Amino acid sequence: MISIKDLHKSYSIGNSSLHVLKGINFEVEEGELVAIMGSSGSGKSTLLNILGMLDIADEGDYILDQVPIKNLNETKAAKYRNQFLGFVFQSFNLINYKSALENVSLPLYYQGIKRKERQEIAMDYLEKVGLKEWSTHLPSELSGGQKQRVAIARALASKPKVLLADEPTGALDSTTSYEVMDLIQKINQEGKTILVVTHEEDIARMCKRIVRLKDGVIIEDKNINQVLASSYV
Ligand code: ADP
Ligand code: MG
Repeated sequence: MISIKDLHKSYSIGNSSLHVLKGINFEVEEGELVAIMGSSGSGKSTLLNILGMLDIADEGDYILDQVPIKNLNETKAAKYRNQFLGFVFQSFNLINYKSALENVSLPLYYQGIKRKERQEIAMDYLEKVGLKEWSTHLPSELSGGQKQRVAIARALASKPKVLLADEPTGALDSTTSYEVMDLIQKINQEGKTILVVTHEEDIARMCKRIVRLKDGVIIEDKNINQVLASSYV
């Protein structure tokens, strides 16, 4: 599903350059649930943003669902991004003046899906994340965990091949974090390929594989016995 080879990324700050990714290699198969671990500043978001086609690497190869992601113009990149990838962020990134249902259905609008069908699809996904009764509520009327479930529903509604989550539990307390991880595990059990960036060991252990970054390289990449989040909620 994902293959990256010898990926490098530097940021220039004034006259100097910060080498953040120094030759990253890994493969992700369909159906995996991978944690990308590392301390703050280790390059996790940089890597996820490149995988999410929100940023480009300086060097290296990236193949996503058999498509080489290189030298794409912005139109093509946007097309693949919409077709292949769903995003979940620490800060939810919901639109404050739109209801839960409108938030989930908005990306479908950009895909040209008609209003009635958009609403039906959005409602199905809200139901899937356990928030059908909350469809008319604004984000300000939802708890942090509920907001993240709306964001997950929004990410899934366009049926991405891969779900990318950058610290999805970073703004949540432990119990709520485990509820969100329970949902992520369920979505993965249904076959979705998911990458979760986290710096929390307990969250990483709820994935099936841990890739550890340090000083710009992968220092560990291992499959683990997944801890079920449902045993905590
Ligand atoms: P993580 O997500 O693991 O905390 P990041 O990928 O966000 O790490 O950042 C890795 C390093 O790159 C950090 O030192 C950060 O300050 C730096 N960095 C991230 N984004 C930029 C940017 N746009 N410009 C300059 N430096 C950046
Ligand atoms: Mg980060």
